Amino acid sequence: MSPIVVKRELSRRAEKPRVLVIGAGGLGCPIVELLARVHVCELVLADGDVVDRSNLPRQWLYGDKDVGKAKTAAAAARVRDLAPGAKVETRGVFRLPDRLDFALVIDGTDDVDFKFALNDAAIAARVPLVSGGVVGLVGYALSVRPGQSACLRCVFEAPTDEMRKTCRDAGVLAPLPSIVGSVMAAMAARTLAGEAPEAMWSIDLGLSQARPSRWQRRDDCPACGRPS
Ligand SMILES: [Zn+2]
Repeated sequence: MSPIVVKRELSRRAEKPRVLVIGAGGLGCPIVELLARVHVCELVLADGDVVDRSNLPRQWLYGDKDVGKAKTAAAAARVRDLAPGAKVETRGVFRLPDRLDFALVIDGTDDVDFKFALNDAAIAARVPLVSGGVVGLVGYALSVRPGQSACLRCVFEAPTDEMRKTCRDAGVLAPLPSIVGSVMAAMAARTLAGEAPEAMWSIDLGLSQARPSRWQRRDDCPACGRPS
């Protein structure tokens, strides 16, 4: 499907699908802004943090006047300014919702244990997921269609101590979350249009490499495998 057809497919719908974005940080900012600007969905934005001055180099939606404000409130205000008519609902918490009654869930968090828990919840609720992560110079973006394509556990199996390093511990090159978040926004738009973006993108700015890879769903995956 061409980008024009994706946009046409999404804009002709009277009812916009509801999309949950968890995390309004480095990944969440480009995801929220790009999806809001093209009016392809209603956004529900969840994050429990406040804007810190150290966030400003890589978190597009915030400016100096937002320091100290809840990220969800500052992000929603910025989106309404940038994209009048965009629908944004906010939840000032950072936890798994009791019910995942959304057309799509997008994981922009920086907590690997949460990522696996969200993967498992999305699989159980049969809700498509776009997952992404960044640390240092590397990042990934993965689109998961429950029961059809590989999930986070099919690819990475389980969280390791190495994966538990966060941007707070190890830092992150400022433009990297914007690159990975933009890929995630593209995956989200294609998923909402009924496409199947099954490739995982691995981006390594140290090696100057952006690499797609294809993964098969594993029958023995503890999250999405078939019961024996
Ligand atoms: Zn799996």
